[in-house]
Amino acid sequence: MSFPKIELHVHLEGTVAPGTLLEIARRNEVALPADSVESLAAVYRFRDFAHFLDVWTLTTSALRTERDFRQVVVDYAAQAAAHGAIYIEGIFTPAEPARRGVRWEEVFAGYCDGAQEAWETHGVRVALTPDIPRDHPIEDAERTVGHAIAHAGRGVVGVGLGGSESDFPPGPFGPVFARAREAGLGSVPHAGEAEGPESIRAALDVLGADRIRHGIRAVEDAGLLADLADRGVVLDVCPTSNLRTGVVPDLAAHPLPVLLASGIGCTVNTDDPAMFGTDLSAEHAMARRLGASPVASYEAGLHGALCDEATRADLRRIGAEFDWATATA
Ligand SMILES: [Zn+2]
Repeated sequence: MSFPKIELHVHLEGTVAPGTLLEIARRNEVALPADSVESLAAVYRFRDFAHFLDVWTLTTSALRTERDFRQVVVDYAAQAAAHGAIYIEGIFTPAEPARRGVRWEEVFAGYCDGAQEAWETHGVRVALTPDIPRDHPIEDAERTVGHAIAHAGRGVVGVGLGGSESDFPPGPFGPVFARAREAGLGSVPHAGEAEGPESIRAALDVLGADRIRHGIRAVEDAGLLADLADRGVVLDVCPTSNLRTGVVPDLAAHPLPVLLASGIGCTVNTDDPAMFGTDLSAEHAMARRLGASPVASYEAGLHGALCDEATRADLRRIGAEFDWATATA
């Protein structure tokens, strides 16, 4: 039977399915390159990374109002719940709509309301980790952190860093991450995807990372693998994403078995499910082929989640009560 899942690395903008995007674009009178679900699905179909970025822009440009942001969270919570998700840390990038003129407050209010509604309607806990785009001016990082701190009581639990890891190392973001951490938020940057061990070390040292999103290129440095294991730093691994972006040439070459053998907790995640054509069950099936047992993935999520201790105790109880021998999907 399906088993309980904790997903810690999913971009809410990357969960918007073609049908939802059509509905939102119509509501906002935004033109799309296709006007039926079928033809838009064809546009969505993954080709290469450049095309993925085009689809990303298409989707994020259509999301404009509090209602849109709220809908995206609730829709994904329903989808993920169908795959067994009980706790999700959803990423969103508020600086992108803000750059297009949407008020920061509207973006945060929409996602926070969505998290509340997801819990009430679907029984899925959604915590939020707004992402800072590496290529934006530092003021956007400061605003992201300021709003994240202001919404800490409404489901925001951490801040992340995303975008081109190769062109924008984390150095300039040290002070804003320090401010977020002082306010009690977690640090969950992307690192070790496009770049190697040095980028992961910088995420740990400069950003005080609690977890690393991806982090799979830690396999290039045995010392780093040992450090991650010793410090209990969890990696949020996304198998399909790694294949789509070409970071890993094929599933057999995926570093997950080495990471697990090194004693590192690894969660299993979709990253951008609508754009990569995947879902949480498919990711777990792949991870399982690579040696990640369902219970080990759950334990990594339990350990790595930025939730409060009452929530963690609840997740621990759910894991303890589940009969993992029956876990198949
Ligand atoms: Zn990501």
